[in-house]
Amino acid sequence: MIAIDKLSKWYGQFQVLTDCSTSVAKGDVMVICGPSGSGKSTLIKTVNGLEPFQQGTVTVDGVSVGAPGTDLPALRARIGMVFQNFELFPHLSVRDNLTLGQTKVLGRSLDEATARGLKYLDRVGLLAQQDKYPNQLSGGQQQRVAIARALSMDPIAMLFDEPTSALDPEMINEVLDVMVGLAQDGMTMMVVTHEMGFAKRVANRVVFMDHGRILEDCGKDEFFGAPRSERARDFLARII
Ligand code: ATP
Ligand code: MG
Repeated sequence: MIAIDKLSKWYGQFQVLTDCSTSVAKGDVMVICGPSGSGKSTLIKTVNGLEPFQQGTVTVDGVSVGAPGTDLPALRARIGMVFQNFELFPHLSVRDNLTLGQTKVLGRSLDEATARGLKYLDRVGLLAQQDKYPNQLSGGQQQRVAIARALSMDPIAMLFDEPTSALDPEMINEVLDVMVGLAQDGMTMMVVTHEMGFAKRVANRVVFMDHGRILEDCGKDEFFGAPRSERARDFLARII
């Protein structure tokens, strides 16, 4: 469903991604890990066209992301993205956060959008919070609303960029539990995270990046059992 082929990207003179190739099939849960600055966020953002690139191709559900004429807003409407810093609209209630994209981008009626939004809000355990504003919620709750908002758009895949790294420790699991549930329901996911417990539970693929290159791209058992590169072994030794 997502294919990244010989992708390279530069910021000016600095090469941030070098010859990256990988692919995600429907229902795959890919965890992307690696040291700070290795290019994880940049890589994941190329998938929904948030980061342009100079070489290679990125294809999502048959659509070439970098090609001239590609309708990026239409593509983004089909891919859910959840970032480290909860990006809810601060001036909108939870319910309005859930419905805005559905009505404006997908053209759904407010009734339909509300029904759908509340269904997902219930799923993340926050139905009772629908009238609150983001600043009245904990970080973990905000992140769960962000996930519900993305799901309300019926995405074909979900991208997560360190969704729990800005959270207090006691809130990490409530967000990871929602993500585990999604994975178990068969959602196609690319997840940048250092939560190796999550990777061990639900990932079927692990990509390890270092200095803009994909050094490992393998099954979870292979990654945790016998990573090929010394860099990945060092990384695992430090974070587990
Ligand atoms: P982290 O774990 O800290 O989030 P990361 O693996 O997500 O790191 P990226 O954010 O993709 O790494 O950044 C990769 C490299 O590209 C870093 O060296 C970073 O400084 C550089 N970089 C990122 N964004 C820009 C930018 N807009 N302009 C120039 N350099 C950038
Ligand atoms: Mg990052």
